[in-house]
Order: sequence, then structure tokens, then C-alpha cells
Amino acid sequence: MDYRKKFVVEPGAKVRLSKIDASYTGKHETHEAAQSEIQKHIERLDKLQYLLYADGKQSLLVVLQALDAAGKDGVIRHVFSGMNPQGTFVFGFKQPSKEEAAHDFVWREHRRAPGKGEVVIFNRSHYEDVLVVRVHKLVSESVWSKRYDQINDFEIMLTQNDTTILKFFLHISPEEQLSRFKQRLDDPSRHWKISESDYSERELWPKYTDAYEDAIAKTSTKHAPWYIIPANHKWFRNLAVSQIIADTMDEMGLKLPPTRVDIADIRRKFHAAEAEENVGAKRKVKAIKAH
Ligand code: AMP
Ligand code: MG
Repeated sequence: MDYRKKFVVEPGAKVRLSKIDASYTGKHETHEAAQSEIQKHIERLDKLQYLLYADGKQSLLVVLQALDAAGKDGVIRHVFSGMNPQGTFVFGFKQPSKEEAAHDFVWREHRRAPGKGEVVIFNRSHYEDVLVVRVHKLVSESVWSKRYDQINDFEIMLTQNDTTILKFFLHISPEEQLSRFKQRLDDPSRHWKISESDYSERELWPKYTDAYEDAIAKTSTKHAPWYIIPANHKWFRNLAVSQIIADTMDEMGLKLPPTRVDIADIRRKFHAAEAEENVGAKRKVKAIKAH
């Protein structure tokens, strides 16, 4: 199954989250059945990120958005587990600091955008400025409503500078969210994840749904597509996200850079050094024996 085709939001398409089954798992019935596939994609990602880093000409930006407990942290922990920390960066965006709030709304994300050869993951992003900000009326409609075009312009600019952008909305049902809140409550090692706002935000579910539907519909573009990932099953979420990222990176035309040295000459130098080393080692053995 090509999950890019299945879950991509076509530019201009309407988005109705209630019509999308958050429990979808396709032909896979259990985590066990999907495990080897997930593993395969994670290994592909490891190799592809190595190439991206070595190639040093392009960047990858992965945007993760979702309601609370939908699994943004889980995706980061599992899907990116094979990537080398050298060249892979995660940035989370929370309530803006005073300095951030004093700037335009993409300023803080722009500073964290990937450099050449880098993979950057955004755990929340500039989309919060048309989501939480819209739902809580933190700015007026005349301000947030202009932001969709501004986001598209920002993302076009990044892609024209050799950044591939993938945006994932992790789609869970309200029931699944509640059951994850219960797990958090029942497991002391997860208590730190609980915040007062979890429950007040949950009451705003319909408003968030409207805001997400609008944001995704208005900003899913050819260059920076949105994927809506059924995320009630954590393993299926990991399977779909890992496959989509690996398939996308496969098409980036990544390759090892040309050798910068004369390999034949370096080989000669190596053999000379090796011979020198052997002579030294033999001398040492003789000296020890003579002692
Ligand atoms: P968490 O990701 O659970 O640590 O929570 C971070 C909180 O910061 C969430 O409630 C977000 O909605 C909020 N947040 C992120 N970006 C913004 C923003 N630009 N304006 C206001 N709140 C934000
Ligand atoms: Mg939270």
C-alpha cells in the first residue's frame, strides 16, 4: 500500500476529519504483522539520512501537528530512532516567549528551519498560529485569516531553497484521547505529561476540528503536502509515517558526493604507513624478547 497516495490531502480538496477513520489499519491486523515493515522503513530512513547529510545539498523538514496525546512524541521516538543525531534536530514550539511574540509568527520556526544536509522535526509549528491562536481568539480574525497565504509563501520559499517539506496531522478519536489520558493518570511515570489544559482543550474539540480542517485544506500544496494519519493505533501511525518519509526521501535524488582525493595515491600512502607500522611492531617484539 502506498500511504502517500492514500493519506495525502490533494491541493484544494475539502477536509472532513469526521469522515476519516482514526482506527484504520488497512490489511494489517496486529502490531506484530506490521513490525517487520516498520523496521524496514526505519532502516531505510537511517540510510537515506546518511546520504542527505553526506550529500549536503538539500534539507528535510517534517512538521508534526495533532491534538493532545495523539502521539507526536511517540512518532519522534520511534520513527526517527534510526537517524544519526548528527544532522537530525527536533524543535518543539510552545507558548511564544516575549521575544518570539514580538516578531512575526514564523520568525521562530524560520530560525529552526533545516540547513543543507539536515533533517529537522517540528513538534508543533507555525500552524499553532492558525490553530490554538484561532480557537482561543488570541489575535483577531483579520490577523489569523491572512496567515494561510503567509504560511504558503513561507513554505514555498523554503522549498525553493532545497527543503523538502512533509506535514503530518495525527488523527485520533476523542475516545482514544480519553483512554490515553487514563493511561497517563494510571501510570505515575506518565504523570509529568498531564497538564491542566488537557481537559479544557478537549472541550474545544469541535473548534479545533474546524481550525484543523481549514488549515489543512488551505495549506496542503504540491510542494508542502499534508498527510492525515489515522493514529488510534500507535503502530499503524508509525508504519504510515515512516513509509511516507522514506518514500519521499527516496525521490530526493540523494547521492554520495564525489571523492575529493586521488584514491590511488591515498592507497599508496596507506600501504606505506602500514608497512612502517609493521616494522615498528616487529622492532618492539624483538626489543621485548631481548630484554
Ligand atoms: P505541549 O506541546 O503539550 O508541551 O504544549 C504546548 C502548548 O503550547 C500547546 O497547548 C500549544 O497549543 C501551545 N502553543 C504552541 N504554539 C503556540 C502559539 N504560537 N501561540 C499560543 N500557544 C501556542
Ligand atoms: Mg500537551
